[in-house]
Amino acid sequence: MKSIQMTDLISQYERIQEEIDDAVLRVIRSGRYINGEEVQLFASELSKLTGAKQVIPCANGTDALQIALMALDLQEGDEVIVPAFTYAATVEAVALLRLVPVAVDVDPLTFNMDVRKIEEAISPRTKAILPVHLFGQSADMEPVMQIARKWGLYVVEDNAQSICADYTFSDGSRKQTGTMGDIGTLSFFPSKNLGCYGDGGALLTNRDDLAEKLRQIASHGQSQKYIHERIGCNSRLDTLQAAVLRVKLPHLPAYIHARRKAAKEYDAALLSANGLFEIPYCIPQSNPVYHQYTIKVNNGKRDDLQNYLKKKGIPTMVYYPRPLQRQPAFRNILKTRGDLSVTDQLCTSVLSLPIHTELEEAQLDYIICQLIAYGKTNS
Ligand SMILES: *Cc1c(COP(=O)(O)O)cnc(C)c1O
Repeated sequence: MKSIQMTDLISQYERIQEEIDDAVLRVIRSGRYINGEEVQLFASELSKLTGAKQVIPCANGTDALQIALMALDLQEGDEVIVPAFTYAATVEAVALLRLVPVAVDVDPLTFNMDVRKIEEAISPRTKAILPVHLFGQSADMEPVMQIARKWGLYVVEDNAQSICADYTFSDGSRKQTGTMGDIGTLSFFPSKNLGCYGDGGALLTNRDDLAEKLRQIASHGQSQKYIHERIGCNSRLDTLQAAVLRVKLPHLPAYIHARRKAAKEYDAALLSANGLFEIPYCIPQSNPVYHQYTIKVNNGKRDDLQNYLKKKGIPTMVYYPRPLQRQPAFRNILKTRGDLSVTDQLCTSVLSLPIHTELEEAQLDYIICQLIAYGKTNS
């Protein structure tokens, strides 16, 4: 059995090596390293895949969040509602623009923003809600959109982890994550479900007016060369990365299928184990894409289990070990109007198991066996 990793990008590359090598060499030989034709081609292919009317490529997922917020023309001190349990980039983008992040606790089952707690976080200065589709599952978007409409708020979706997850509304309509609010953001960091070989990101929107602004902002505030309409930034997807992404894009459905299949096997095995583990809970409205397979470990056994698995050659990760409200950088700027006890609790009990497109049946069986063995002796 090959040694187990959290992600196996090299094996994934080897399966599409010829196509990738061709694409990369084509770009190098073309000499068009910035805004080459691959960038626009990738944008239109991604638009087809996601159903987003407009796709604006940019340099990374953190820039995408910042550019999205810049396009909303908010004022210093305006508030943006964020989930407390997320990667720091979500809140960083808000803080960099001198906006105030207001943290809402997450649902203990889904790990996503607890929609029952959004309204108590709203103040006269609230301008936007920024839900994160964490670990591959859509946030509960119908209530998010209802609250946003009722209070006249923008919705920016941090979709870095959940490309191609979907959500079904009560009227039967179905949309992909990142295409329900005003703007959705994506990251193509190598280990994301659609990753390039470096940094990359994109913005999704169905609003033409916002698309134009986003494009301008990502390009030094210009629509025409050397006419700067607004203060923007320099955030481009490299032609090389676009070429890599164009090769990988058609494989994404198969990649997602592989993740879902592994998740199902984990689910079945861990459900029949004892009550030590809680498998990821899926809301009926969403079809998750399992960027992470994150379990909860009860009885304070998380760290012990992680050590046990490490000794057996099984890597795991804690996403996320420390809540944002306890981070030196955010402690004093993150506001909250409720308690964040679920987030605190999750940081001590969650554990993400290996799940990726190259995970072999024998590896999965081995991981499951070790989990069950641990469960038997520690119940
Ligand atoms: C990865 C990630 C980002 C940032 O993406 P980068 O491309 O690394 O800048 C933002 N938000 C979430 C939730 C992420 O997982």
